[in-house]
Order: sequence, then structure tokens, then C-alpha cells
Amino acid sequence: MRQGSRYMKQETQKFTLHTHTDLFDGKNTAQEMISAARDCGMTAIGISNHFIMHPDIENTKSFAAAQQRGYSDMYMNDFDKLIDIFSRHYDELRQMATRHSIRILCGLEVDFFNTAEWHSGFARAIKALRPDYIIGSGHFIEYGGTLCNVHDMANADPETSDKMLQVYWTKIQQVAQSGLFDWLAHLDLPKKRGLGMDEKWCDTEAQTIQTIADANARIEINTKGFGLPCAEPYPSKRILQHVAQYNIPVLLSDDAHSVDQIGRHFDVAAQLCRDCGITNFYTPDCVK
Ligand SMILES: [Zn+2]
Ligand SMILES: [Zn+2]
Repeated sequence: MRQGSRYMKQETQKFTLHTHTDLFDGKNTAQEMISAARDCGMTAIGISNHFIMHPDIENTKSFAAAQQRGYSDMYMNDFDKLIDIFSRHYDELRQMATRHSIRILCGLEVDFFNTAEWHSGFARAIKALRPDYIIGSGHFIEYGGTLCNVHDMANADPETSDKMLQVYWTKIQQVAQSGLFDWLAHLDLPKKRGLGMDEKWCDTEAQTIQTIADANARIEINTKGFGLPCAEPYPSKRILQHVAQYNIPVLLSDDAHSVDQIGRHFDVAAQLCRDCGITNFYTPDCVK
């Protein structure tokens, strides 16, 4: 049986730009993702594999876990290697773009690290790769001298976990203020492990949304969250109400790691936007 998206006849948003392939942690090839996107009515698909580069990345628990699962290249401590991997990946995508009627775009989902070394390496990468768009992410924070992700936050004691979460939100504000990204990914990612959902985080969220608005940044509504116990996207309805208030531009992202996830829950997300009063939908130039 042919593999495809479970969400056919896409009408809500006919492009999907936050997707992953088997280059790293995705399940399908770029070719399979492209065909599935075309079959479910998308007019454009962008592949946005992870661009995660940090000198200490090998010391994280995620690195060991990724190595076990066979995609250790996802976590890099060498800009040149990462540029090389993406150069070959983009060459393949740009070749495919000549053979398909659906538009195919080269994206990046980038973990932002605010050091001079990272900024210069990233600038070099962008110059070499010329991506069509760049998504800003914060899967990792620097805390207590090490790199931590949401699982490390969840495994810490409650007090430490709260401190880490505060660092996380500060980092998201920096991602917005950097001006390097076309939009920000999954704002309240720690929700993946049930973190940050308590009312006490409302002020921090509101402050972050204000920072995003002040920076003229945009965000995605990442429908992966519908599959979590909270059954709502990233960011939450609570945050989306602030997004509406500041008229921050949004786009829908499925964060598909396999063909069956392409366009997932876009219709439900669009309804949620309407419920929250969001009307400012962003269509990047590359898909127009
Ligand atoms: Zn992500
Ligand atoms: Zn992603």
C-alpha cells in the first residue's frame, strides 16, 4: 500500500514548511515526503531538518540517545561538517525541485546559541547554504554549565526545573530578538513533558509574547502538540490569546517526521485561531 498523509485534501493552508526527513530523525525520505505532500493537496513543501551546533553537544544525554537511534549527525560540534551535510542535502532537494510540480524549498530548523562563535559560524553556514527560510528553535538551554533539553528539565527537582524553565523562556525571547529567523518554532516546547502549564507561568508567557511583538517576529502554530495529553498545539490557547492581542503573524506547521503527519490537524488549528481571534496569517514569499 502506498504511504501517504492521513490528512487529505488540504484546504486550510496549502503549504507545509516545518518537516523532517530521514537525513536525521525523520522516518521518510525527502522524495516520499514530497510525494505525500503533493498527494494531499499541498502546493509547496519545505524540508527543515535540524541545524544543531554546539561545542559541548556530545556531553548531552540527547547525543547518546540519538547515536543509539542512528542519527548522531543531528547533533554537531563542527560547523564545517554540518555545512557539508546540508550542502549535499540541499543539492538533492534542488535537483528534485526541477522534476516536481509541487514547489520544493530548502529550510532549516535552527537551535540558537547566543555566543560570538555560534553567530560567526551560523553566518558562514547561511552564506554557503542559502536556505529559503530559517525557523528559530530552542531545544536546548545552557544551565549549570551543561546543555539541557526538556527531558533534563522534567527529570530535575521542581525548584531546578522551574529555574531551567525560566532560562528557557529567556532564551525564546533572545531567539525573537536575534532577528535571524523567519519565525519561531513550538514556543512552549517544555509542555512536551507537562512543564510550564501552571498558571504561575502566565506572566512569563505574556512578557515573551510582548518581546516577540516588539521584535516584529512571527510564530508557528505547531500541530504536533495535538497528539500530547494537553491536546492543543504549541503554543497553548492561553498564549494564542496574547498572540491575537498583539496581532503577531502566524503560520501552521505540522512538524511532520513521517508522511502520515503531513498537514496534521491543520483544520483544527485554524478553528482554534478563529476562536482566539487570530487573523494575521503569514505566507512566506518563498511559497507565493
Ligand atoms: Zn523542533
Ligand atoms: Zn521540527
